[in-house]
Order: sequence, then C-alpha cells, then structure tokens
Amino acid sequence: MDLNFGPEHEAFRTEVRAFLAEHGENAPRAGAGVAAGRAGEGLLRWQKILIEHGYSARTIPQEYGGYGAEPDILKRVIIDEEFNSAGVSRGFGGQGPEMLVPTLLEHGSEVQKLRWIGPTVRGEVVWCQGYSEPGSGSDLASVQTRAVEDGSDFLISGQKIWTTTAQVSDMMFGLIRTEPKASKHAGLSYVLIPMDTPGIEVRPLVTMTGEAEFNEVFFTEARVPQENVVGKRGEGWKIANTTLAHERNMLASSAVLDGALRSLVKRMRSESSNGVRAIDSPLLRDRLIELQARVLAMKYHGMRMLTSRLKGRSPGVAGLVAKLAGCEVSHQLSALGIDAMGELGTLYEGSPRERDRGRWQSQYMFTLGLIIGGGTAQIQKNIISERGLGMPREPKPQAKG
Ligand SMILES: Cc1cc2nc3c(=O)[nH]c(=O)nc-3n(C[C@H](O)[C@H](O)[C@H](O)COP(=O)(O)OP(=O)(O)OC[C@H]3O[C@@H](n4cnc5c(N)ncnc54)[C@H](O)[C@@H]3O)c2cc1C
Repeated sequence: MDLNFGPEHEAFRTEVRAFLAEHGENAPRAGAGVAAGRAGEGLLRWQKILIEHGYSARTIPQEYGGYGAEPDILKRVIIDEEFNSAGVSRGFGGQGPEMLVPTLLEHGSEVQKLRWIGPTVRGEVVWCQGYSEPGSGSDLASVQTRAVEDGSDFLISGQKIWTTTAQVSDMMFGLIRTEPKASKHAGLSYVLIPMDTPGIEVRPLVTMTGEAEFNEVFFTEARVPQENVVGKRGEGWKIANTTLAHERNMLASSAVLDGALRSLVKRMRSESSNGVRAIDSPLLRDRLIELQARVLAMKYHGMRMLTSRLKGRSPGVAGLVAKLAGCEVSHQLSALGIDAMGELGTLYEGSPRERDRGRWQSQYMFTLGLIIGGGTAQIQKNIISERGLGMPREPKPQAKG
C-alpha cells in the first residue's frame, strides 16, 4: 500500500503549515476540534479567516458563500491532519455546516442554497436536527409530528426530543409527516423551520455531563411556508438519510481520535502515582497500547474508505463501521484518561486540582451519548451484518391484534 500523497499534495501540506504558522495564533483556544452551538465573536472572526483562505467551506461554490475550490479529498485530509497536529481550531461546525449544508447542496433549491448556505458556514445561523420523537428513534420512519396544509403554509403539531442545541438554534431541519395517506416512508418531508415561529416551545434537558445539551421541542400549529420543504413533498426519508450519512462522517473522524490519543499520551507522561508515571504502569500501558492499535486501525480504515471515494466507489457499510468503532474507541480513550489520573480524573472543570480543564470525565459522559446518537451501536451492527455480511434480515415484529 502506498501511503505517500505525492509531490502536489505534499506542496499543499507545506502551504497549510505556512498558514498555521502565520495565522494559528488568532484561533480561539478551543483546541483542534470543530465547535458547534452558538459561536462567540472570536470563533466567528476565525471562521471568516478560514473561509477566506480555503480551510473551511473549501469546496462550497463562492456564490453560496464558500471558497470555491475543486473537490480534492486528499487536500481535505491534509488540512485535517495539519490542524489537528498543530492543535488549532477547525472553526465552526456541527449540524448546520457539516450535515445540513451538504444536504442542501445535493437536494436544495437554488433559492434555499443562496439563502442558507453562506450564513450557516459563517456561523451566523445555527441549526438543530429535528428527527427523533418520544416514540420514534431507531424506527425513525415512524415519526408522528405532522403538518396540515393551510393555504401556502403548513401548520405543524407534535413533539421532537433529544434535539441537540435547539435552545440556541435559529433554525431546525425537521422530518415531518406531511402526507398522512401515504405509506410510512413515503409520507415524510424534510422541512426547514424557523425556531422563533409562534407555537414552538423548547424545553432543555440536562444530561449527565451537567449541561443542557439537548431538548424537547413542542409544536402547536406552528405556521411554516410550504416552500421550506427541501426536495419534493414525500421525499423526506431519502433526504434525511443523506443528512444521516454526513452525521456519521462527522462523528467518525479518525483525526479527532488521533488528537485525543496524543493528548492522552502527554497526560500519562506527566501524571504519577506513588512515584510511578501513568505511562510506566503496566496495566495502564497495556490499555494504552491496545487503544493506540485501534486508533491506527481506524486511521487505515479511513484511508481505505478514502481510496474507494477516490476511485468513485461508495465505501458502503465501511462508513457505519467507522461510526460504530470510532465512537466506542473515543469513549474508551476518555475512560483511560480518567483512570490514569486516579481520583483527580473525576474532577470537573474549575476544581482546584483539575487536569486538562476536566476534559476526560466530561468527554467520558459525552462520548457515551455519541454511541447512541446518529443511530445506536445495535442498529449499526444490524445494518453491517445484513447489508455488509449478507446475514439474514432481522425478523419484523409481529403485527398487533
Ligand atoms: C447525545 C445525543 C444527541 C442526540 N441528538 C439528536 C438530535 O440532535 N436530533 C435528533 O433528532 N435526535 C438526536 N438524538 C437521538 C438519537 O438519534 C436517538 O437516541 C437514537 O436514534 C435512538 O433512538 P431512541 O433513543 O428512541 O432509542 P430506541 O430506538 O427506543 O432504542 C432503545 C434501545 O433498543 C435498541 N434497539 C432498538 N431497535 C433495535 C433493533 N431493531 N435491533 C436491536 N436493538 C434495537 C437500541 O439500540 C437501544 O439500545 C441524540 C441522542 C443522543 C444520545
């Protein structure tokens, strides 16, 4: 296997390094990751610099507010690698730029692209994903939140749940039942919903990290123009799945795992118990080496998917494998981070003897959620076994009655 990127791309790597050396100090302190939620002034300024230089919204056409470069997957990988190893913020991301924008580019109308893509990639408009409902999670196509026609508008009623960042969002991309007479999958539409619409109420839910990371969202005859449907009415299932594929890519970044591993090694070198450095403890070292091997395996799995894409082939269920294994490895890295520090590992940010701003314990709780969000581990395993390994399909539940 040739892992060399070739002279053109190595020259590009030099360019990225020069940019980081010149501008990196202007980045906000959040680390190498991509920040979601509502961006502060510093992040908005940094995001503008990134777009101007082609390090964010790189391949989005200029008329939609992007940099307008030709798609080049290897250049994208190089940018990720270099920002990650320099520990510099990748800017503003999350559900708007990483999930909605690619969906709009594929399925949106020209009006929708011109209206939403620019403000979203600049971090001025924040989005949330309104899919899950109290009775519809893994069985997503069963959503019940419905829209009734009223002239050129829809009146939307129902409830969403686990809606990340809804409390700070300007807009929702939601999966709504607009065609009550159609079959389960054909009755849905993908609708862009302003969160300040009268009839929408957001109630934050506090997770075990102590933060209100997601919400319940209630709709009572919320009036939304029918022109806010992306694609055609009844095509919502197909379009929602485009977004879900981008969500899995976002959650499965091997560059993020690599960054977490590096930070862990650094912490284990500096933390000691009874005069023994954590990295020299046989038990902890054993776990570290196993995780190091898994992070490397994820990196090579990512390269294999990259090769498929470069050859114009879909990586197939390999994307689901990356989401499944990546989220689990991420959780195990956090667990080792806590254990390496003994009782100090459980301290929250702000505690007098905290380490790494309480990062490892909060990541431990947060990454547990990522194993569930975007499709649970069990569902990923079902799909991998059925579509990837050709195993028999799971039996359908018995009809009631
Ligand atoms: C951190 C986090 C953020 C989230 N953010 C959002 C968001 O922004 N927007 C949004 O719409 N949703 C969001 N979700 C919701 C998420 O998509 C759902 O939690 C997920 O799809 C599972 O649905 P559920 O919670 O209803 O569980 P259920 O579907 O009720 O599943 C319960 C359990 O049963 C298992 N199970 C269900 N069906 C099967 C089967 N056929 N075979 C084997 N096992 C099965 C599941 O794996 C799970 O362990 C988020 C969730 C988390 C944890």
